[in-house]
Amino acid sequence: MDSTDYIKDFASKWTDTLSKITSLTFLCCEEDKYHASQEVENPLCRLLQEHSAGRAFCEQDCTLPLVQALKKGEPVYFKCYASLTNVAIPVYFNRAMDKKCFILGGRIVVSYDDLVGYRGVAEKLGCEQGRVFDIIKGISFKDINNFKSAMEAVRATTLYFFQHAERYKNSEDKISKLQTIIKVTNSTSTIADSRELYTTILNTLGVLFNVQTALLLLRDIDEERFIVEEVFGYEKEVFTKTKTTWMDGLTGEAMTRNAVVSSTDLFDILKSGLPNGFTSVRIFPVSVENRVDGLIVILDTPISPDDEDLIGSFCRSLSPSLENRLLSSRREVFVRKGGVLLQAMHSISSYIDSPDIFNVIIDRVSNVVGAEQGSIMLLNEEYSALEVKATKGLNPAILNHVRINPGEGIAGIVLKKGMPLVVNNVEEDERFSRPNRVRYKTKSFISLPLKMKDKSIGVLNLSDKTGGTDFTDGDLKLLETLALYSAVAIERRIYYQSSVNLRKISITDPLTELLNRRYFEERISEEVERSKRHRQPFSLIILDIDNFKDFNDTYGHLTGDEALKNTAQVIRRCIRIIDIAARYGGEELAIILPTTDKEDARVIGNRIRDGIENMSFTIKGTGKAAKLTVSLGIASYPADAATIEELINNADRALYRAKGLGKNRVVLFGNF
Ligand code: GH3
Ligand code: MG
Ligand code: MG
Repeated sequence: MDSTDYIKDFASKWTDTLSKITSLTFLCCEEDKYHASQEVENPLCRLLQEHSAGRAFCEQDCTLPLVQALKKGEPVYFKCYASLTNVAIPVYFNRAMDKKCFILGGRIVVSYDDLVGYRGVAEKLGCEQGRVFDIIKGISFKDINNFKSAMEAVRATTLYFFQHAERYKNSEDKISKLQTIIKVTNSTSTIADSRELYTTILNTLGVLFNVQTALLLLRDIDEERFIVEEVFGYEKEVFTKTKTTWMDGLTGEAMTRNAVVSSTDLFDILKSGLPNGFTSVRIFPVSVENRVDGLIVILDTPISPDDEDLIGSFCRSLSPSLENRLLSSRREVFVRKGGVLLQAMHSISSYIDSPDIFNVIIDRVSNVVGAEQGSIMLLNEEYSALEVKATKGLNPAILNHVRINPGEGIAGIVLKKGMPLVVNNVEEDERFSRPNRVRYKTKSFISLPLKMKDKSIGVLNLSDKTGGTDFTDGDLKLLETLALYSAVAIERRIYYQSSVNLRKISITDPLTELLNRRYFEERISEEVERSKRHRQPFSLIILDIDNFKDFNDTYGHLTGDEALKNTAQVIRRCIRIIDIAARYGGEELAIILPTTDKEDARVIGNRIRDGIENMSFTIKGTGKAAKLTVSLGIASYPADAATIEELINNADRALYRAKGLGKNRVVLFGNF
């Protein structure tokens, strides 16, 4: 293997490692080939890319940031068309910085609105609703700042690794150590059992660096202390029987400084809580987002500076799997605490297509926090008032006719503000000071908005906590998760119910199977935004069939329909997957050509004109061939127009000109 190959191999192994252990997707791209469309492991992306238009958008949206990142020499964070937050990180194989590659990834969802945005895009692309739902219901939101600092760590570690790869490329011993480290780091992703993971980590140190004795200390989940998780080369009990927290002494120093600490001072060693008999100690911190969550303590082993470097990078590379471990233990705690939460979600999802959904939600949700009373109210768009959809522990007959206006009462305020409210004493809370209503046994309750995108569609109310206590912040957290989940379920239910909505989400024209005009209008405004953002032109073609009225008169309307269909087919064959062909009206079609200037659009226009002229079209039943031609007008953004209306008008004027010049031709706006 020559050294470049070696580094490439190294890079791909490393990014693969990262993607596995952080559940982010990373791609290593080669210079001059900014193609982001490699194997996609991320289910969110994979779903969109099952559709050719999705593939095209993905490619477009993920490619530009690579170029920008390269120019700036630093990470570029961006949100793609599907509302997923990503990062493009330029990295260099070597110090000369002439061998470049990228880490591209993230695909995280940072807010509920983005989740809704993603869903909208997926459905527009034609992804089946059920599948979209299956994918997004497993999504958790990530904090953008955490994401950024994690990405900084990834970047630093990667650069460090790459530079080592370069530095060590002529030293067999170092290479094999480094390779082993990569392998171990890689395998940590597949080791489900924590114990086995810790043993693997310490054994690696033992085998690679002849370590005599090593300890792995990890921060306890809830308490401010470290726990000896694993010991290599010594009996574990010797280190666990002393009641030390490991928060001071040498371990404490390594923790607060987040740096390697070493000592041969016997007094210091003893003071740190290590047992008698050790003469030297070296402590390596393992940090997650700048917080030291683990310590590797190496005892009685001489370590060369090079090896210290290698062990340091080993510790850095452990950070993501350690973070995963911490996350999953926190999750376990959460699940244990929330116990019924998952079950509740499960039953809500199994009632999703049933009219009982509202009753199931209120029943399961009140179970989770132990509320004896509760209700779900939905906003009735027609009356713009809240209506009770389901209740628990309350007499539905009383509530059936209740209508609450947005902004009025607690539910109305929650709806309007879109923020949850926990009230622990209705009588004392000055926001609502008023006597407690008799039907509530206790004075506290919780009210949460059911939100779709930035709009509240309803409110979830719970009161009378079993046992008479107040609702806690923990209850609120659980409920927020459930409210989100319920809102998605309710919205889906509404979709199913309403054929109006179903029609609204359909985006294709049934005759031509091209996109319809409504979708075209949405897409063209998105295209203008994209064009502004990336400073790239796009073009619009408006096409009209020549003498179509005569065609209809001669062959009949049904044959006309058939001809229109065939014309659409020819157009689809002539354009790229990223182009958008729509039926603009009657026998007028429109085509958006992203990232295409007018001259390039002319080439595509001529290809279409030519394709239709040469289309062989036989009249059904007669076997006779008929001929069709089209005229095309082209205008480009921003060269020919500052607004969408102007762009459409100017393409139309070019089309009119083409008709005037004798039809069956392409005319560019401005060239007449
Ligand atoms: P020009 O070359 O100037 O465009 O001539 P034209 O005959 O095409 O003129 P015009 O655009 O005024 O006529 C449009 C005709 O297209 C009239 C209408 O009957 C026909 N048409 C529009 N939509 C459909 C359709 O869905 N199916 C069929 N069969 N005909 C359609
Ligand atoms: Mg017409
Ligand atoms: Mg016409």
